[in-house]
Amino acid sequence: MALTKKQSDTLAKQVFEYAPAPEAIDHVKIQPRYGLYIGGKMVAAHSKKHFPTINPATEKTLSEVVEADEVDVDRAVKAASKAFESWSHLSASRRARYLFRISRLLQERSRELAVVETMDGGKPIKESRDVDIPLSAAHFFYYAGWADKLEWAFPNRKPRPLGVAGQVIPWNFPLLMLAWKIAPALAAGNTVVLKPAETTPLSAMVFAEICMQAELPPGVVNIVTGAGKTGSFVVSHPDVKKVAFTGSTEVGKMIQRSIAGTGKKLTLELGGKAANIVFEDAPLDQAVEGIVNGIYFNQGHVCCAGSRLLVQESIAEPLLEKLKRRLSTLRLGDPLDKNTDIGAINSRAQLEKIQGLVESGIEEGAELYQPECVIPERGFWFPPSLFTNVSQSYRIAREEIFGPVLSVLTFRTPNEAVEKANNTPYGLSAGVWTDKGSRILWMAERMRAGVVWANTFNRFDPTSPFGGYKESGFGREGGVHGLLPYLELN
Ligand code: NDP
Repeated sequence: MALTKKQSDTLAKQVFEYAPAPEAIDHVKIQPRYGLYIGGKMVAAHSKKHFPTINPATEKTLSEVVEADEVDVDRAVKAASKAFESWSHLSASRRARYLFRISRLLQERSRELAVVETMDGGKPIKESRDVDIPLSAAHFFYYAGWADKLEWAFPNRKPRPLGVAGQVIPWNFPLLMLAWKIAPALAAGNTVVLKPAETTPLSAMVFAEICMQAELPPGVVNIVTGAGKTGSFVVSHPDVKKVAFTGSTEVGKMIQRSIAGTGKKLTLELGGKAANIVFEDAPLDQAVEGIVNGIYFNQGHVCCAGSRLLVQESIAEPLLEKLKRRLSTLRLGDPLDKNTDIGAINSRAQLEKIQGLVESGIEEGAELYQPECVIPERGFWFPPSLFTNVSQSYRIAREEIFGPVLSVLTFRTPNEAVEKANNTPYGLSAGVWTDKGSRILWMAERMRAGVVWANTFNRFDPTSPFGGYKESGFGREGGVHGLLPYLELN
């Protein structure tokens, strides 16, 4: 039964009290210090350097990890090169068996992994529990299925693995990005050296334990922790045949320049500034949920986040009213609490970047809306925010903020929506909200974006390829397309 406006206003004004519902952490054993996962076991580092990894919600140290140097990376690449000889000749169905085993172990240890991901990265437990970990397991499960079907995937071609893949991943979806990289590489018969991000190395350390539990042959997966410098050793190592990178456009360009002429294969999954476009015939309440999911999911630390809302002028007022009301119901706080919608910002540096861009928005003349919310005393936090009165030239409309900040712009006609949506150096994703199927297809044809969601946003599936155009990078991850960068087709 539809509510009258009065009833819905009364409902919106009610404050719902929730008792705290913290996820238990006593089942999780984070070691005080980790080594490097090389050649099938945890080994001490040549560098002898460690650095702390902290919980961004409390600023407390969780553990210490190695800052791997060039010698450490070289050991990892050598272990991977050695393992490649046997792994690439192993029968495909046996390779698949290892991947299935990893997938099952990820499922078995999912509660532990969700807690580790949330404590190390700051994301709400309901997201790591319901999105990150299940999708990671699904990726291994999906690519396990491809391992013995490569010749069907690429008929009349002879697919061959490339060798050692050097993979560098970011901090926004640590385990999921690891799965996106490692699962297709292994299914195709390659071995890997992976470097997790400096602020979120812990789920990769648990993954190393899982590889040992799965009795994965030594050297097939190697994990080296460290900062950007360690990453640069991985990508520049001469025995690395394929580089896969997810992160900022700036570092992506640097990597592309540094390996030019080496013959290494490269895929780059970089930033985005996606348009989420709402037409006047869209179901507004549903669209509001999609907008919220598009930009406030994972504190907006999402490369494909719907950070530019393009709303048709005729419905801008009621939509914004609903959206502001919805924002006031989002719960910011302890990421381990199952009721939390907005967790902690991943690091102090990221918080400062968000603050700087928000200040630039105010200075340039945009109007900021933030619902009232209590910011915890310790840790890194930013309230869900939206800007109206935004011009396309403002930095907040052009640059990737990578935080819970939405810029709202309006349009009158579908052509104007297309022009504005494509007016960005990026091209990773877009969203279209409308009642008309024909309009969805019309828009999808014209969007210069790797993914176009229709009447939904931020939906992922291992069977579906993901990747960008323009400064959002090139190459696809997921689906059968995700195997291609790891194969040579003779
Ligand atoms: P980076 O691109 O610096 O980091 C991504 C990964 O690359 C990390 O593992 C990083 O290590 C590593 N790295 C850094 N420098 C090099 C290098 N020269 N060679 C090889 N690897 C390197 O992103 P940031 O973490 O600095 O985030 C900055 C901005 O990038 C964010 O504000 C956001 O806008 C964007 N970003 C986009 C992401 C996406 O998914 N598209 C993901 C993350 C960030 P380390 O962590 O130690 O620095």
